[in-house]
Amino acid sequence: MDLEPTLLSGVSDQRPFVIAGPCSAETEEQVLTTAQQLAAKGVCVFRAGIWKPRTKPGGFEGVGVEGLEWLQKVKREIGMYTATEVATKDHIVKALEYGIDIIWIGARTATNPFAVQEIADALRDRDFKGAVLIKNPVNPDLELWLGAIERIYNSGIRRIGAIHRGFTSYERQLYRNIPQWSIPIELKRRIPNLPLIADPSHIGGKRELVAPLAQQAMDLNYDGLIIEAHYQPDSAWSDKNQQITPDTLAHILSALVIRNTNQTTENLTELRRQIDDIDNEILDSLSKRMRISKEIGQYKKEHEMPVYQTRRYGEILEKRIKQSQILGMSADFMKVVFEAIHEESIRKQMEVLNEDKPYF
Ligand code: PEP
Ligand code: MN
Repeated sequence: MDLEPTLLSGVSDQRPFVIAGPCSAETEEQVLTTAQQLAAKGVCVFRAGIWKPRTKPGGFEGVGVEGLEWLQKVKREIGMYTATEVATKDHIVKALEYGIDIIWIGARTATNPFAVQEIADALRDRDFKGAVLIKNPVNPDLELWLGAIERIYNSGIRRIGAIHRGFTSYERQLYRNIPQWSIPIELKRRIPNLPLIADPSHIGGKRELVAPLAQQAMDLNYDGLIIEAHYQPDSAWSDKNQQITPDTLAHILSALVIRNTNQTTENLTELRRQIDDIDNEILDSLSKRMRISKEIGQYKKEHEMPVYQTRRYGEILEKRIKQSQILGMSADFMKVVFEAIHEESIRKQMEVLNEDKPYF
């Protein structure tokens, strides 16, 4: 792709390129106070959601056009660049009218080619000089993400970046959205000149995860960070658990270790991140397996079946050992792993069987 080298000349060539601001614009006071505090910490680009996609109806859906006036003030009076999310042609028309510098396509919108095409068509011939950032779709589909990027590129936009905000999972887990770092890494491999920005706020969903996730993104050589910051995070109208104060943001940014890309340790760091990612997947799978074991325990209890069934266990073990050898792992290793898993499963089922016997 023949992209412009920077998203915002003079600003985005520093690493990390930082965009910060509240999840949503709530009131004029909240927008201006947060922006002033961020500007005082050296942040140049202010984000705020004006139209908020909510999973269920009835929640706070954004203040709408009124909020764009506040963003215009941030630009005029505080001198920051402004960024907001757009999902429809009307949003584009309004955002451009109020001088928004960076627009981003949210994760839900990025899943829908019709919606992305509508945005691309609205941008065509509008001579938008700012940048368009495309968040990863909520589902882990690299092709869909690439397709959204291509639609925007085909509409003539040359300042394009990608935001990695993690992927939805049905399973309970540490992160609000699992990072699956290998997907954005593959995106960067396919389009090496595409700026990649991490969104640790939406990946983690918790304040305490912002710093470690931001550091991981820097270790993986990401270009920028988009972080939710609010002058009073505890009273935020949306995503309050993940918003941090401008002060905390400044501490996190100053503590980031920015490693030189050319160091040989970079490859090692990348491999370690992949290991961390896989370990998280193993933990999620194990906890799911244990929950199913408990359900089996319940069934066995109701049908008066014994918990331990030698034949079934022998079959499982034999099958897994064969599979592991095909996959290049030793039979001894697999035996240890599956025996441990089986032992814990049995223990869980025994718990179910005896839950009404306090002295067991
Ligand atoms: C947001 O950035 O506030 C937002 C709604 O994010 P996402 O599209 O990643 O859920
Ligand atoms: Mn948010």
